[in-house]
Amino acid sequence: EEAAHAGLKWKYHDPGTIEDASWKLSMLSQLDSAIDKGEVWIALQPQLDLRTGRISGAEALARWTHPEKGPIAASEFVAAAEQHDRIGKLTDFVLEKAIVAAAEINSRGHEFGVAVNLSARLLSDRQLTMRVAALLSRHGLAPKHLTLELTETTELAEGGEALAMLSRLRDLGVEISIDDYGTGLSTLNYLKKIPANEIKIDQSFVKGLCDNRSDRLMVQSTISLAHSLERRVVAEGVEERETLDTLAEMECDLAQGYIIGRPMSLESLMKRIVADSRRRVA
Ligand code: C2E
Ligand code: MG
Ligand code: MG
Ligand code: MG
Repeated sequence: EEAAHAGLKWKYHDPGTIEDASWKLSMLSQLDSAIDKGEVWIALQPQLDLRTGRISGAEALARWTHPEKGPIAASEFVAAAEQHDRIGKLTDFVLEKAIVAAAEINSRGHEFGVAVNLSARLLSDRQLTMRVAALLSRHGLAPKHLTLELTETTELAEGGEALAMLSRLRDLGVEISIDDYGTGLSTLNYLKKIPANEIKIDQSFVKGLCDNRSDRLMVQSTISLAHSLERRVVAEGVEERETLDTLAEMECDLAQGYIIGRPMSLESLMKRIVADSRRRVA
């Protein structure tokens, strides 16, 4: 108790921390109403199919433009919401916007999937499968066009309730991706247990792909392993042409990163998809 008290006192006396802590709390208390007020929106970052050269999907990323503070980083408000069990409303919002966007793109004749980040703690929410199913049917999106990205966690590795929820989601026809692959546990056991369709190699391995021998080996062996387990592979954080070419040579399935496109509005993404399909026809 004394130690905890001392910790508190230390925090209290650190001006940076006290400001951070109070901002974090005020941010949390504002998040739900910010969603209602339209300050929160989604950006879509295109994913390139390395075999066909087509934009075959996008990842939906939450954005919050605060009226006074300006844009707040997703990593900041998502982490705060996760820590305080306030991630549910944000997730429902992002899911719906992402599903609507993907349904719109598909309805214009472009086969297109959308990926949404799912906090692993939501896997204990028994209503989740029902809500996902309801959103898909309400907006007319085929389940295979929705991928849920999960970051590796111990709960998942241990199995139990979270794994059962993942199986239910898969039974619905929704796809599962392991996000930030390589930074967490990444044991073979984990790969075997999680019913994932996709592995998303973390940007930290992708960045050094062309200069760093060990990153190159890591990526190449992850691709081979994933393929032998019949999982597709996405490389994230692709910033250079050379990296993109190397990934294609390595038979990586999909690439995402600034060289392909920054996270953007649905309108910009639609323009990009239309322009790309015209170019292919020409
Ligand atoms: P993530 O799921 O790993 O998303 C990829 C992050 O990398 C995004 O950051 C994206 O903008 C950034 N990125 C993409 N391409 C590049 C590149 O070429 N170079 C570099 N340096 N960065 C690139 P963002 O949007 O700031 O999101 C950060 C994290 O916040 C996400 O990481 C995800 O874990 C979380 N997040 C975002 N939106 C949501 C959400 O709706 N729900 C949940 N639970 N988490 C979310
Ligand atoms: Mg992600
Ligand atoms: Mg993530
Ligand atoms: Mg990631």
